[in-house]
Amino acid sequence: MNKPPIIWTNVILFSSTLLAALILVPWYQVTYGFDAFVIIAAVASLFFCGLSITAGYHRLWSHRTYQAHWSVRLFFAIGGAFALQNSALHWSSDHRVHHKFVDINDKDPYSAKRGFWFSHIGWMLRHYNHEQYDDYSNCRDLQRDPIVMWQHKHYLALTLITNIGFALLVGWLSGQMLASFIAVGITRLVLSHHFTFFINSWAHMWGSQPYTDKNTAKDNALLAVFTHGEGYHNFHHIFESDYRNGIKWYHYDPTKWLIKTLSWLGLATNLRKTPQQKIEQAQLAMILKRSTQRLDLRHDAEEMKQKLHAEYEILVTKLNEFYTLKKRLFEVKKRKALKDYDKLQLVKQLKELQQSFEQQRQAWLMLANHT
Ligand SMILES: [Zn+2]
Ligand SMILES: [Zn+2]
Repeated sequence: MNKPPIIWTNVILFSSTLLAALILVPWYQVTYGFDAFVIIAAVASLFFCGLSITAGYHRLWSHRTYQAHWSVRLFFAIGGAFALQNSALHWSSDHRVHHKFVDINDKDPYSAKRGFWFSHIGWMLRHYNHEQYDDYSNCRDLQRDPIVMWQHKHYLALTLITNIGFALLVGWLSGQMLASFIAVGITRLVLSHHFTFFINSWAHMWGSQPYTDKNTAKDNALLAVFTHGEGYHNFHHIFESDYRNGIKWYHYDPTKWLIKTLSWLGLATNLRKTPQQKIEQAQLAMILKRSTQRLDLRHDAEEMKQKLHAEYEILVTKLNEFYTLKKRLFEVKKRKALKDYDKLQLVKQLKELQQSFEQQRQAWLMLANHT
């Protein structure tokens, strides 16, 4: 089969910036040494680019996990152009196709099943899916956002202004034009590119799958460090409308922290969260699936399998009872609809249910882990 034609602009852009960074950074460091101001400015611009992609392009525009004030959208539109990853409209359109057809090689634009190279960068080096290149019919909602359309229309000018402008600004402020050109101009761009590309390659190859194994997406705590929290990709692919990717307090997810902070400032609203009940159901279902698969390999395990499934049914019932009552209590408290005495009774009942659910969970996990 003939390969589609090469996109030379992209090949030259990606290879020349990477090569320049690899040569110029050590050379400059050995010859002159970067000063702290330039390094801090480069790291700050790396965060500006990265967070504009993760909090803006990804969680705001592609998945609509929250709504943002126009000033925040403008900020992300400028940072996204600075990151040089195409317009928000184009990026989101590709990304929605990725989620809809994940791992289907001829539909997912960066299918990880086509290998590391293809999903990381190869998909941008040739005219794959050329016919649908500017079909944005899956982003009609974004076409109503004037900031998205403004950025799309002036994308090229914005990328030039930001990429040249920020490097010049830092160069002027520090009095070190060449250092700024190397650190803020080139190296920041290369790192920002590859850190984002890792989400399509690495996050679909290495890591754990606590929530689903229906696609290749993985959770990877190390990757989260490079990608402003996007390393929890297994969670993200099953619960894509959630503004969080790392859901535990100790998960490194600065994108989530930024969105939450914006909401405290009144600049972000309608932050969407998956109900905890659904998250736990998904996790337990995965554990059940893995234990059953292990038991399938044993011929004497039919009885064990039945027990595992029966106890699982009890566990899920208890889980649902607990969360239903929790929700009821929350609503009752909100509407101030009950007398104190009845509320206390409900709290007591909830505690009992929680205890019984936790006990059943411990016992069941022991059973599942010993299969
Ligand atoms: Zn996504
Ligand atoms: Zn993905």
